[in-house]
Amino acid sequence: MPKISIVVPCYNEQDSLPLFYSETKAILPGTDCDYEFLFVDDGSADETLAVLRQLAGQDSRVTYLSFSRNFGKEAAIYAGLCNADGDYVAVMDADLQDPPSLLPQMIALLESGDYDNVATRRRNRKGEPPIRSWFARRFYQLINRISDTDMVDGARDFRLMRREMAEAIVSMSEYNRFSKGIFSWVGFRTCWLSYDNVERAAGETKWSFWKLLKYAVDGIINFSQAPLSIASWGGMLMTLVSFLMLIIIIVRRLIFGDPVAGWASTICVIIFIGGLQLFCLGVMGQYIAKTYMETKHRPHFIIAETNRSDTRRIR
Ligand code: UDP
Ligand code: MG
Repeated sequence: MPKISIVVPCYNEQDSLPLFYSETKAILPGTDCDYEFLFVDDGSADETLAVLRQLAGQDSRVTYLSFSRNFGKEAAIYAGLCNADGDYVAVMDADLQDPPSLLPQMIALLESGDYDNVATRRRNRKGEPPIRSWFARRFYQLINRISDTDMVDGARDFRLMRREMAEAIVSMSEYNRFSKGIFSWVGFRTCWLSYDNVERAAGETKWSFWKLLKYAVDGIINFSQAPLSIASWGGMLMTLVSFLMLIIIIVRRLIFGDPVAGWASTICVIIFIGGLQLFCLGVMGQYIAKTYMETKHRPHFIIAETNRSDTRRIR
C-alpha cells in the first residue's frame, strides 16, 4: 500500500486547521493508501502550534515541524518536501482553498502510471478583487514570454507527486524560491486538474497587493534574464540614436549656422537618460542582490520543535 505524505504550510491558521484536518481525514480512508500529515508551522504568532500539538496527541498520523520564526510559505514547502518520506507527496494549503475532495482522483491518476504528478489550477478567480486578477493575468503573459520555464495561469501549489519528483525539487536548493517555476522546471509528466475557485474557510489571506507584486517581480528575476538583456539592448539603441542626433546637430551648425538653443529640452533629455540609467542599474542591482543572498548559503529554515524523530532541523 503506497503511503502519502501531506505537506501543509501553516501560518496563523489556528481557525482553519481543525476544519482542514477533519475534512481531509474524512476523505483519505476512502482511498487505498496509507497516509501521514506533515504540518509545517511557519513561525505562527497565534495558537497554531498548540493546535498542532493537540492534533498530534490524538492522532499518530499527525506530525509537525515548527519553525523558529516566519520563513515564508516557500521555505515551509521546502521543509515539508525535505522531510516527507511517503511514496507520494501532496502539498496543500491549510485554509481549504485546495479541496481535499480532489485527492482520490489525484491518487487514481498517479496510480494509473501515466503521470508523475497531478497539478491543479483554478478555472476562474471568483471572489477575488478584479484589479488583482487583472495584474495576475498580465504577470503570466509577461513571464511566459520572457522565461523558458512554462508557468500556467491560475496554477496552485496544490499538487500530488511521486517521491522522485519531490526529490528533484529538494535538489534545487536555491535560496530564492519560486515554487510555480520550480515545479515546472523539474519537468516530469504532469496532469492538470481544474476546479472552481474556493474561498478560504477561516482566517484571512497573508497576501497583500504589494506582497504579491514583490512575489511577481521575484518570479521574473528568478526565472528570466530578459530584464538584463532589455537594459543592454535599450542602452545600445539610445547610444545609436544620440550618435545620429549629434551628426544632425553638427551638420545643421555647419550648413545653417544655427545658434545653440533649447536649454529646457536639453535638461529634459539629461534627466530622462539619467533616470533610465538609474533604472537599469536598479535592475542589475536586483540580480546582484539575489546572487549575494545565494552565495551566503544561509539555511532555508530552522526547526525549533517537531514530533518527528528523523528530522533535519536546519537546512
Ligand atoms: N503560509 C505560510 N507562510 C507564510 C504565508 C502563508 O506558510 O508566510 C501558508 C498559509 O498558512 C496557507 C498557505 O500558505 O496555508 C497559503 O496562504 P494564503 O491562504 O494566505 O494565500 P492565498 O491562498 O490567499 O494565496
Ligand atoms: Mg489561501
